[in-house]
Order: sequence, then structure tokens, then C-alpha cells
Amino acid sequence: MSQGRLYIISSVAGGGKSTLIRKLLAEFPEILFSVSCTSRDKRPMEQNGLDYYFITKEEFQKKIQEDYFLEWALVHDNYYGTPKDFILNGLNQNKKIILDIDVQGAENVKKKIPSAISIFILPPSQEVWLERLKNRGTESREALEKRIKNGLKELNYKDKFDFRIINDTLERAYTELKEIIWKENL
Ligand code: 5GP
Repeated sequence: MSQGRLYIISSVAGGGKSTLIRKLLAEFPEILFSVSCTSRDKRPMEQNGLDYYFITKEEFQKKIQEDYFLEWALVHDNYYGTPKDFILNGLNQNKKIILDIDVQGAENVKKKIPSAISIFILPPSQEVWLERLKNRGTESREALEKRIKNGLKELNYKDKFDFRIINDTLERAYTELKEIIWKENL
């Protein structure tokens, strides 16, 4: 039976993390994705329950009181949190679980579950990153500026991760991601 394990994947916004995760989940349907709760607004292409559970700030705060989250954080002025039971049940069933969370969340999960493997996805250069972020076109100008500012701070955390992958081309970065996941499984 395959070994259950958490894989924490973090990146700056526009680092290409979501594309890599989508590709991985499509190729390996047995890998679970931890759907976070967030208080931010839903983007047009997103689906409630698949990308996130979209809840209000008040609902989020109530869940914090109820100890519902393994970890939670304020990112770009919105709440984000990982539902605890999903993770604990998945690990009990020896599942591999992907967490797409920010650098604060990564640190907090590692403290609680030290066997978790943390991976930071890096853009190949600052120029390429800014270009990709602008072309994404999912945020207002103000939100974009906030993500750039936070991204520059988040890059300082990269050395705390177990692995770093430079996302220069999707195929190469994806191969590296798969190698990490299967190597850890040997
Ligand atoms: P976005 O709003 O672009 O989907 O995500 C913003 C940031 O929040 C990303 O870095 C994403 O990884 C992070 N994030 C998403 N879910 C969680 C979570 O449950 N906990 C934490 N700490 N960060 C999260």
C-alpha cells in the first residue's frame, strides 16, 4: 500500500503552482487535494467546493473558534485555512495529499506534521514572474500590487522548504515535482 503523506506546495502568486498541481491531480487521481476555506471573493472560473470553500469572514472566524482548521492565515487581507479533519482522515487512509498554501501555512503545518514534505515553486527570474503575473489578468491593479509586494517577501522563505523547483518550463518543472513525490515514496 502506498504511504500516506502531506505535500505542501507554496509559491509566489503567478509562480505556476496551480498549473503544476492541476496536472498532477489529472495524472494521479489517487492523490487528494486539500480544499481550503477562504473569505476572499470567488473568481469567475472557480468552483465552490473544488477550488475553495468560499465562506464569509464571520463564518471563517466561527470555524477558528471551533478549532476546525489545521492551520489558517491572513493572506492578502483575506482568511485562508486548511480543514483539519480532511487531512487527518486522508493520512489515516494512507493517502497522498497536496496542500496549496502560503509560506506561513507551510511553516505551521511542518510544525504540526513534521513528516510533511514542503516544496517551493520559483519563477525563473523576477522579470518572467512579473510578466506572468500581469498576463494572468485575474486581479485588479490594486490586488496585483499587493501580490507583488507579498511575493517579494514570500521569496525570502524559499530556503526553509525541503525542495525548490524552478518553473522555467512546465514540463521540466512537472517532471521534477513527480520525482520528488515518488522518491519520497520509496
Ligand atoms: P489565491 O487567492 O491566489 O487563490 O491564494 C492566495 C494565497 O493563499 C496562495 O499563496 C495560496 O497558496 C494561499 N492559500 C490557499 N489556501 C490556503 C490555506 O488553507 N492556508 C494558507 N495558509 N494559505 C492558503
